[in-house]
Amino acid sequence: MDCIFCKIIRGEIPSYTIYEDEQVRAFLDIQPLSNGHALIIPKKHFENLYDMDSENLKCIELASQKVAKLLKETLDCQGITRLQNNEYGQEVKHYHMHLIPRYKNKMFKVQVDGKEKLEVEEIFRKVQKSVS
Ligand code: 5GP
Ligand code: ZN
Repeated sequence: MDCIFCKIIRGEIPSYTIYEDEQVRAFLDIQPLSNGHALIIPKKHFENLYDMDSENLKCIELASQKVAKLLKETLDCQGITRLQNNEYGQEVKHYHMHLIPRYKNKMFKVQVDGKEKLEVEEIFRKVQKSVS
């Protein structure tokens, strides 16, 4: 299927994967709104919330808690916002939940280690350290 997130699941497009289980994959957003911006997707293709089955909804929810804790533990964020677009406003038509770390006194632009914004690769190294 010509879906960019299905290609990520199949390994045809690389991603900075920070969490994976049988049903779900979480990886860093390529154009982050903040340091550590992550996406959680089902491995099976569902277009959006309207199409999701209850099993995958549950798996995404449970994974989002794990990933949120991972981001909280590895980044100096003070909060995490979850959001999920459906149809209008949805760029990629494969269900995905955004996890966006929040940093005090900022909206989405952030500071980690005194720097305004880190490269996705740099964030990946920080988060990954605790996974392996
Ligand atoms: P949406 O607007 O559909 O809710 O969000 C789609 C998100 O996917 C955007 O934040 C965008 O930066 C991200 N994105 C699009 N293509 C890729 C990709 O190839 N790799 C990664 N890691 N993120 C992507
Ligand atoms: Zn897909």
